[in-house]
Amino acid sequence: MVNEFSFLVTATALVGLCIGSFLNVVIHRLPRIMEQEWREQCADICGNSASTADEPLGLARPRSRCPHCAHGITALENIPLISYFLILKGKCSACGKPISLRYPLVELFTALASAFVVWHFGPTVQATGALLLIWALIALTAIDIDTQLLPDAITLPLLWLGLVFNLQGTFTDLSSAVIGSMGGYLVLWSVFWLFKLATGKDGMGYGDFKLLAALGAWLGWQMLPAIILLSSVVGAIIGIALIVAARQGRNVPIPFGPYLAAAGAIALLWGKTLTNGYLGLVY
Ligand SMILES: [Zn+2]
Repeated sequence: MVNEFSFLVTATALVGLCIGSFLNVVIHRLPRIMEQEWREQCADICGNSASTADEPLGLARPRSRCPHCAHGITALENIPLISYFLILKGKCSACGKPISLRYPLVELFTALASAFVVWHFGPTVQATGALLLIWALIALTAIDIDTQLLPDAITLPLLWLGLVFNLQGTFTDLSSAVIGSMGGYLVLWSVFWLFKLATGKDGMGYGDFKLLAALGAWLGWQMLPAIILLSSVVGAIIGIALIVAARQGRNVPIPFGPYLAAAGAIALLWGKTLTNGYLGLVY
């Protein structure tokens, strides 16, 4: 039994490496695909169809290329972790320019997080759902850091998927999930408008509302206070650290999505313990 379980955790880590490799593609391409679609829509509205000469971009094609010299990445150069560290040694095989360390880090982090989720939940339906949620949160975090966007193409299916998992009460009962998704959206929507009326600035984006709505759908409305509190505290600490370290102005936008995602992951894994803890303090 112990051996079967450690085999399952190890196998999940290996699958996690490949998923991490796929997430790298999503993180890199999804914003570009969205940009291409926006450009086509603009061209449609303006009535000039000449500007859509670009090769259409998808998740699976064309093949990944070196951003410096457009060298096509071969199958041997595409093995998670191994290619980066043993075969390519962090450089493009054609032009020798360095490849970002973020690619292997995303692969490694996805593998470790996936293994931890299965170890934490055991061989259950919860583990399956938690893996899908964690993978989506990793992609959203990296895309938000890069582009300050949380694509609808991820946040909206994530919301529906949370409701589907809770049809059978996998993480919470269905009514808590429905109220959680509406509450999550409305809370940040209200904060957004209060902040905008008070300061005239946009404090966060609509993607943040949808992400919190999705987390509410997965974890139930009972987790929303903990998620908001955790993300605000972590966001404030890291935000202040970044302002001090980089001597940035306070007007540089800081993406809120990564903190929501991190708080959501913590609530997924330890939320029951946390809420029992603070409800215990109240009563
Ligand atoms: Zn190259």
